Amino acid sequence: MSFIEVRNLKKSFGPLEVLKDLTFNVEKNDVLAIIGPSGSGKSTMLRSLIQLEEVEGGSIAVDGDHLVKDGLYAKPADSKKIIAKMGMVFQQFNLFPHLTVKQNLELASKLVKKEQAKEYSDRSIELLEKVGLADKRYEFPSRLSGGQKQRVAIARALMMNPDILLFDEPTSALDPQLTKEVLQVMKKLAEEHMTMIVVTHEMEFASNVANRVIFMDKGLIVEEGNPQEVLKSPKELRTKQFLNY
Ligand code: ADP
Ligand code: MG
Repeated sequence: MSFIEVRNLKKSFGPLEVLKDLTFNVEKNDVLAIIGPSGSGKSTMLRSLIQLEEVEGGSIAVDGDHLVKDGLYAKPADSKKIIAKMGMVFQQFNLFPHLTVKQNLELASKLVKKEQAKEYSDRSIELLEKVGLADKRYEFPSRLSGGQKQRVAIARALMMNPDILLFDEPTSALDPQLTKEVLQVMKKLAEEHMTMIVVTHEMEFASNVANRVIFMDKGLIVEEGNPQEVLKSPKELRTKQFLNY
């Protein structure tokens, strides 16, 4: 059994079918890059995995547990546990502006018992060190560059020890220099065998860091395989057009 199993996922916004019949797996330690034109349903697919969008049909199983099975959702207490296995990093960082960097990280554990406050404080500093921002822990997000904000968002997503990280175009809002520092952190995570799904337009990252690539278009998976297959010798016309072959 794969770590994540998505079967025949369907989602519409009104008359618009955004996910038509998505089926794919994610294995433990996979770095899966999802590429495709704007509007093809990439964000909706990622958001569906953590129930930010509700699908109308199909199944999502994580680590053997169904978040949704044939369009039927698990009970809230169960879905909460399933979703907690996944951490998400958004294009627009989504940091809380009124909280310091360190408080942004600790917020995730706010509902946890007080006795663990010290543990979470230590962990937040450890993770900020990992992304090279321990010295910024008392700053507010407005004082950080976009690249620093995104690195904080990555550290925050790691706070609750997720089994998988989901990235939705994490560098699209950044200029090339800041993009580089964020991609470096993601590469490091990959080298530490973090399981990741990365929606991205960074073909170099997809090619060098991902072990699998999915090309999506108009709510469908058009082509999937290893980076060499999909990016260097695509079979489908739509993939070729997207990659300018
Ligand atoms: P991508 O991330 O690949 O650019 P999205 O998943 O964001 O694609 O969007 C897929 C399609 O669904 C687009 O046509 C978009 O306009 C539409 N869409 C996304 N979210 C909503 C929403 N909340 N309401 C209506 N339409 C939406
Ligand atoms: Mg998107």
